[in-house]
Amino acid sequence: MTLASVYGQQRAVDALRAALRGGSVHHAYLFAGPEGVGKELAAVGLAQALTCPDKPLEGCGVCSGCTRIQRGSHPDVLWLMPDAERVERGLAGRADISGTPSRDIRVEQIRAIQERLSLRGLESPRKVAIVASAEAMNPQAQNAFLKTLEEPPSDTTLVLLCSALDRLLPTIRSRCSKVHFGPLPLDFLAQRVQQERKLDPGTAALVAVMAGGSLGRALALDVKALARRKELITRFETLNEADALSLLRFAEEHGSSRDDAEQALAILQVWTRDVAVARAGGASLANQDLEPLARESAARHSEAALHRRFALIERAQGAILGRNGAPRLQLERMLIEMMETR
Ligand SMILES: [Zn+2]
Repeated sequence: MTLASVYGQQRAVDALRAALRGGSVHHAYLFAGPEGVGKELAAVGLAQALTCPDKPLEGCGVCSGCTRIQRGSHPDVLWLMPDAERVERGLAGRADISGTPSRDIRVEQIRAIQERLSLRGLESPRKVAIVASAEAMNPQAQNAFLKTLEEPPSDTTLVLLCSALDRLLPTIRSRCSKVHFGPLPLDFLAQRVQQERKLDPGTAALVAVMAGGSLGRALALDVKALARRKELITRFETLNEADALSLLRFAEEHGSSRDDAEQALAILQVWTRDVAVARAGGASLANQDLEPLARESAARHSEAALHRRFALIERAQGAILGRNGAPRLQLERMLIEMMETR
């Protein structure tokens, strides 16, 4: 596992390699892109390339340093994430954390890492700090982190991973060198899903589409949700502004948890794309079994209305990811605004 094993992100990896070889590694990077597309793998690869004694500028992936970076136990490669995430990943026991583990990266954590970074590296002349989900820094934490960006400790590279850029202070964004990570290609996702989840090719292709370019999501996606897909889409198409109760019920049923709401939005996103494809006279729909419904819907919607739908779905996804209020309320708001613009 090194930079070479980051799949489908050629432009990002090329940019990092060029900086490594040209001796122009920035003191702070912002890896921006959806969850589960390789940002973390690239951060590990960069840390290896910066510290590996055996294969400098690339990382060997097998030496003691490289393997400990992968496991998250290298003393000079520090990880910053919310306590809740540390527990979920098995990096901390509940006993290490008093009270309910926080979903935020707190200001105390920033101060602790600042202290560590002010010291010399223990094993490597270079230190790396990886903020696993930078959007989880609460406002106080972001302000404290800003000081580190303004006066970066020597011999340190900071890497912020972020899937919701609008949750970061503009001053943080502007002080980092941004590296963009896009969605992964469908054929790659389908192949990995088929291999790792032992699904038939048809189901794997559908899972790949529903995952919206994220391998993490494709591997975790509940196959039962695919069965619900048809019913969800069919009901969505019958919603209308005159029947407010049906809107509220739809939002309630699909917004009972963050996971359910995210899945429903992913399905509606792919469906909206299908309707747009059908409207443009295209034939390759992801929901092939629902082609007649896609054509019918395409006939009822303008191109502008479909664009607006996309934007509203994305806004709801961002709000749910950023934990801005209950998922049910975000779905309600989205549906009501959608119905206003047919
Ligand atoms: Zn190595």
